[in-house]
Amino acid sequence: MRDLTEARRPLSPEELAALAAVVGEAHLLVARDDLEPYGRDWTEDFRAEPAAVARPRTTSEVSSLLKLCSERRIPVTPQAGRTGLSGGALPIRGGLVLSLERMSSILEIDEANLVAVAEAGVVTQELHEAVEARGLYYPPDPASRASCRLGGNVAENAGGPHATKYGVTSKWVMGLEAVLASGEVLLTGGKTRKDVAGYDLTSLLVGSEGTLAVVTKAWLRLIPKPGAAAVVVAPFATLEEAAAAVAAISRAGLVPAALEIVDRPCVDVSFRKKGLPVPFPEAEARLLVELDGADDAEVERDVTRCGEVLLEAGALDAVLATDEAKRRELWEVRRGIGEAVRELGSSSELDLAVPRTELAPLVRGVRRIAAEAGLATACFGHAGDGNLHVHVYREGRGEGDEARFEEATRAIYAEACRLGGTVTGEHGVGVAARGVLALRHSPAVLAAMRAVKAALDPLGILNPGKALA
Ligand SMILES: Cc1cc2nc3c(=O)[nH]c(=O)nc-3n(C[C@H](O)[C@H](O)[C@H](O)COP(=O)(O)OP(=O)(O)OC[C@H]3O[C@@H](n4cnc5c(N)ncnc54)[C@H](O)[C@@H]3O)c2cc1C
Repeated sequence: MRDLTEARRPLSPEELAALAAVVGEAHLLVARDDLEPYGRDWTEDFRAEPAAVARPRTTSEVSSLLKLCSERRIPVTPQAGRTGLSGGALPIRGGLVLSLERMSSILEIDEANLVAVAEAGVVTQELHEAVEARGLYYPPDPASRASCRLGGNVAENAGGPHATKYGVTSKWVMGLEAVLASGEVLLTGGKTRKDVAGYDLTSLLVGSEGTLAVVTKAWLRLIPKPGAAAVVVAPFATLEEAAAAVAAISRAGLVPAALEIVDRPCVDVSFRKKGLPVPFPEAEARLLVELDGADDAEVERDVTRCGEVLLEAGALDAVLATDEAKRRELWEVRRGIGEAVRELGSSSELDLAVPRTELAPLVRGVRRIAAEAGLATACFGHAGDGNLHVHVYREGRGEGDEARFEEATRAIYAEACRLGGTVTGEHGVGVAARGVLALRHSPAVLAAMRAVKAALDPLGILNPGKALA
């Protein structure tokens, strides 16, 4: 475990008593063992220690906590499901962790307006299941959906496999209830589908990584659930060929619901972990393409065309899965990769994104830079969005090689930017990518972002040290 704590802000007995008076003794955690899980997320092996954790149940409690923390300059780190992959939820300056886990009610599913209203602590998969039971669909589906929460998805502007067709979280948020560092409660939108009255604060807060406000409630757009879906799996001899096939699919006019790329190390470890035999063990990469539509006829037409395009692009085969059980198994293997690749050793995960057509050049660049530095990689991601997660492994490096490792990862980030891409596609800057943010944005853009931060959180108590640092 690497301790990232940059500063410790202890809380005095008087401060702890004031915080406990807001949430109740039972929901202010101070014992070391109780605090330990709140000092970790899913980012590498990082940790950081808070002085206390508050678990409010209402927006009014969140407001009182923030007002109190502002008055006493106590750093506050919001947390939801702690599945983050950029360290955003780690309390690196100590102080208070504000966990939204008890604010976990789905308040309304409005079928006529196609809107769900939910608290920030709702587990994403629970919202999926609740709306799907009514024939509706909320597409944002991070692969962590069984444990991440809506507040975290909003704060990270989370993507997921189905963002390829349906877009990332920001496309689905119609309004937010959020609390500023001062304790002021904002309502930025709601069920109205069109609203241009002033600045779009909803969009500003989505993706702000808990640095501008604490999200307590969200109004989320729904659509009818697609009537049919099928998955095509295509093995390729090389990762580069698989990456090149992604652009061929778009050029053919197909809009897959999901289009995932996975290289051999990821496939091997994920199938092995599930106890399943690896199909096409000789393939260096696979594409997993999901096509959905109103009915079977529409999906069948697209699947046939997709199979042709994949084979023309060099796929070794194109295997169709239409039945629900097989599709579920394939998605379970895919969703398991994020966890399974950790078994391959200690690594940093780079969350790169480039224009779709630059995916193959990115793969080439990553392989070249890693090979020159003698480092192993494992790659997978949401290829339809040009989003590639690259695990760069530290394994086998001797003492003093950390600098070379850092140099190689920085060169990979720079390569993504050179190709017109970015240093994080969906995981957020957090602490993991704050050192490379300047590769992506000009000083003028970073200054504008800092001005927004200073306007909404003038004392700098909200998630200090993250994103813009
Ligand atoms: C196996 C695995 C697969 C994953 N797959 C995907 C994927 O497909 N797509 C994707 O985008 N991400 C993915 N992730 C990353 C992660 O799940 C997402 O970033 C997710 O949105 C984080 O949600 P969370 O509830 O866990 O948030 P946390 O980790 O608790 O917090 C994340 C950030 O949000 C802030 N925050 C949390 N709640 C609030 C709030 N209420 N108000 C303001 N700020 C808040 C925190 O301060 C922190 O900066 C994956 C992670 C894992 C472990």
